[in-house]
Amino acid sequence: MRPDYVDFHAHLDLYPDLRAAIAACEQRRTATLAVTTTPKAFARNAELAEVSEFVRVGLGLHPQLVAERSGEISLFEKLFRRSRYVGEVGLDAGPQHYHSLELQKSVFERILRLSAGEGNKILSIHSVRAAKLVLDLLEEHLPRQRGTVVLHWFSGSVGEARRAVAFGCYFSVNERMLASPNGRRIVQEIPEHRLLTETDGPFVQREGNPIGAGDVVRAVREIATLKRRSIADVQSLIVNNLRDLTNAVP
Ligand code: MN
Repeated sequence: MRPDYVDFHAHLDLYPDLRAAIAACEQRRTATLAVTTTPKAFARNAELAEVSEFVRVGLGLHPQLVAERSGEISLFEKLFRRSRYVGEVGLDAGPQHYHSLELQKSVFERILRLSAGEGNKILSIHSVRAAKLVLDLLEEHLPRQRGTVVLHWFSGSVGEARRAVAFGCYFSVNERMLASPNGRRIVQEIPEHRLLTETDGPFVQREGNPIGAGDVVRAVREIATLKRRSIADVQSLIVNNLRDLTNAVP
């Protein structure tokens, strides 16, 4: 069944009740990528999402956890063939995680090489303060026809966004990003056919409460305002973009 919405980056397993979070995505008819932050979390997510029509699970190793969890890369490799979706992976060069940047780079490189080797993966990538570095590594290790990249909550410069567009990246955009001047400039820059929505729930909050699982209604509305399109147009554009992304055989 065709979904009504797309949430291409959500941490459903970080809500108090994973089962209820999956049910909320089903109820909203939101096609959701449930990213994981460690490969240990993958199995339970995959098991609970198995019967779900709209929820898919990504195999992840979050850059902010690489310092303590890099040993889980072997489990990551073992599970790799089980999932078409990879995420959350990437680099974080912010002050709290800068100390592990070299280790993050080696783990991320390994994941990119695995993805290139297997082919046809779709990756949800974190790039905080590391947009240039992420793009350098993508260009070096993931040939365009070997996989597709979705940059999650991109916060690089407009020039870096253009470089990512030229590389073939998609962008998943949330309501917090759309509330910031730089985020809005980036969204203006992204071609319409490369746009997806996300919640990044439960990290994104509204009035002190986590955003609802799969609730991208505000993000859709803000994109419609920015792009001067109707809400219905943007809603179907994003669902079509997801269909193109997942049907593409690179
Ligand atoms: Mn995230």
